Amino acid sequence: MKLVRYGNPGKEKPGLIDADGKLRDLSAVVKDIGPDQLGDAALAKLRRLKTATLPLVKGSPRLGSPVAGVGKFIAIGLNYADHAAESGLPIPPEPVVFMKATSCIQGPNDAVMLPKGSVKSDWEVELGVVIGSRARYVSQKDALNFVAGYCTINDVSEREFQIERGGTWDKGKGCDTFGPLGPWLVTRDDVPNPQKLAMWLDLNGTRMQTGNTRTMIFSVAKIVSYCSQFMTLLPGDVITTGTPPGVGLGMKPPMYLKKGDVMTLGIEGLGEQRQLVVPFKL
Ligand code: ZN
Repeated sequence: MKLVRYGNPGKEKPGLIDADGKLRDLSAVVKDIGPDQLGDAALAKLRRLKTATLPLVKGSPRLGSPVAGVGKFIAIGLNYADHAAESGLPIPPEPVVFMKATSCIQGPNDAVMLPKGSVKSDWEVELGVVIGSRARYVSQKDALNFVAGYCTINDVSEREFQIERGGTWDKGKGCDTFGPLGPWLVTRDDVPNPQKLAMWLDLNGTRMQTGNTRTMIFSVAKIVSYCSQFMTLLPGDVITTGTPPGVGLGMKPPMYLKKGDVMTLGIEGLGEQRQLVVPFKL
């Protein structure tokens, strides 16, 4: 199933994309797509619906983040060996875990705003994992059973804030608009192998990142299990799992986002995003 949330920011309604690619409204069935709708039983109920009977949504409304009520937005750093190399950093012996502020989450095609004073804003296409049920000290073998589904994420990052301003990375990772999610939450039954997904990102039509989740250092199962050793993962939590090479920081010379740039990115089976880069505005 491809679940979506559509409509104006803060007023999104739940929906799904049917087999013909059409958007259908789910508001008569569920209140939203959020923590209460992501467990196995709740998803099974949605799967039993006769989609042809759901109302078609007219036009092409804006899409919001496909999951509401995200409690934690966890991120994994340097999870592709070739990206660690381009960042000039060693391959980590254990997953690097940091947090993105949940206030940065937005729809897949909403504009990305350069933060005040930003000179080093950068792009990162990543596989997003949405937690479906409470996970605490889960084994790697069981870990994927706690996943509701997957989505495309752009882990937008301000490198000066992240690397040159002291402390941990979080300052450069959670700026407003730095978390485009979607377009869809694709439930895990439709993603039989999360370690075999092609991914890409174009800047102004030029291919910058080409990758595949098969070259992750730590697999999705390992990451879910690993994070659950340090914190309880709850339904609606999102983990973004690291980026393949080709970010602006790794270019020679480095290259960063400027107003008017357009990022387009996608992951096999999980849909595409498009963001216009706009200047800072309060
Ligand atoms: Zn990242």
